[in-house]
Amino acid sequence: MEQHIVSILDIGDVTHNVKFFRLERPAGYSFTPGHATDVSINKPGWEEKKRPFTFTALADKPYLEFTIKRYADHDGVTNQMHGLKPGDELIIRDVWGAIEYKGPGYFIAGGAGITPFIAILRQLHHDSKLEGCKLIFANKTAGDIIYEAELTSMLGNDFINILSEDTGGKYLHGRIDEAFLMKTIPDFNTHFYVCGPDKMIADINGILVKHGADPERVVFEK
Ligand SMILES: Cc1cc2nc3c(=O)[nH]c(=O)nc-3n(C[C@H](O)[C@H](O)[C@H](O)COP(=O)(O)OP(=O)(O)OC[C@H]3O[C@@H](n4cnc5c(N)ncnc54)[C@H](O)[C@@H]3O)c2cc1C
Repeated sequence: MEQHIVSILDIGDVTHNVKFFRLERPAGYSFTPGHATDVSINKPGWEEKKRPFTFTALADKPYLEFTIKRYADHDGVTNQMHGLKPGDELIIRDVWGAIEYKGPGYFIAGGAGITPFIAILRQLHHDSKLEGCKLIFANKTAGDIIYEAELTSMLGNDFINILSEDTGGKYLHGRIDEAFLMKTIPDFNTHFYVCGPDKMIADINGILVKHGADPERVVFEK
């Protein structure tokens, strides 16, 4: 198994509980937008506690980037990571993943499930190939929307936010359920990319296929 110790170059806030981490990029280390690697912290006792995280920077940047949501309710890896500083080290490994771009369509994400789509959408934007791509992003509140300004600027009206707790703001209120998908998607004969909690993926995939989506064109982490 490939394994690299990499220094953290920069850390910044994305939302109240999400930070980006920019890292040294080992020579020859490459990834496909949407893919991930198993990451651990290079500190005593943490080296073998591996968690998967998705690369979010453009594939040709000189650094690697992760965008990581912290679970503060227990002292897991994400809680530790949010306490790291530039100069601290992570261990990264082989690149893996099932999510990659197959063609324009709907990207449907819940919370930190947006990360593979960040990488893909940034790459498409960079390559001027975003046309025909729409993003549906479910969160609890507007304060939870990861990279809200950047995604709004990239996608404009093709960025549809739905919030389960906030009401009365500029975004829709509710959940991504069958009625919402029926109203929002005029033609299910397209590509779909789905990422979020396991139950959300299973529920949405079921609805998409029920309404005519080709299961071969529904992309998700298996
Ligand atoms: C392919 C893939 C790519 C991913 N990419 C990203 C990414 O880019 N960014 C990102 O933020 N996440 C990503 N994730 C999710 C990420 O891997 C998890 O958030 C991470 O593993 C959590 O690690 P942890 O050690 O902090 O929490 P874990 O200990 O693994 O716990 C995870 C969940 O269980 C609960 N839990 C576990 N133990 C306890 C306990 N003792 N008390 C209370 N609650 C507990 C936590 O609240 C949390 O909901 C990805 C997942 C996959 C499968």
